[in-house]
Amino acid sequence: MKVSLYDVARSATSSVNFAKDISITELDLLSTVGVVEVNKAYASGVIESINSQFFLTMDVKLDLTLSCDRCLSSFTESKSLSVESIITEDDSSIDGIFAEDGKVDISKVVVDEIMMSMSMKSLCFEDCKGICSSCGINLNEKECKCKEDEIDPRLSGLLDLLK
Ligand SMILES: [Zn+2]
Ligand SMILES: [Zn+2]
Repeated sequence: MKVSLYDVARSATSSVNFAKDISITELDLLSTVGVVEVNKAYASGVIESINSQFFLTMDVKLDLTLSCDRCLSSFTESKSLSVESIITEDDSSIDGIFAEDGKVDISKVVVDEIMMSMSMKSLCFEDCKGICSSCGINLNEKECKCKEDEIDPRLSGLLDLLK
């Protein structure tokens, strides 16, 4: 979804309201921060012109499927984000949201906000035990015996043959 600054400037109230489900296609980018799927993204807000400066105020409600950094299982998380920013038409400016060709790409703003809001580690729950580095078992579901009887790696090959 794109909102044109021209429409904002031309409007009688010097503002354009929006409230819409946003489809997110940048999943390859979002996967770098552990997002597997954006199940729902709903953005509502307003773009206003005040003293010939444009502003965006927006709330985003998200339903995300994330992958746990420790056990790699998928889990869902709901998030709310609030965005308040000036809008700039100068692509060299480091402040504010860049409006390309005078249009604000709301989906892109949402993607940027998700990128910034993701914590360094996504965990399915705080005390996730992760995956055993020897047998690959999900330690939240089962316990393994790897720690108890550490098998000599030279012997484990032999044991495999006996199975
Ligand atoms: Zn986990
Ligand atoms: Zn194990």
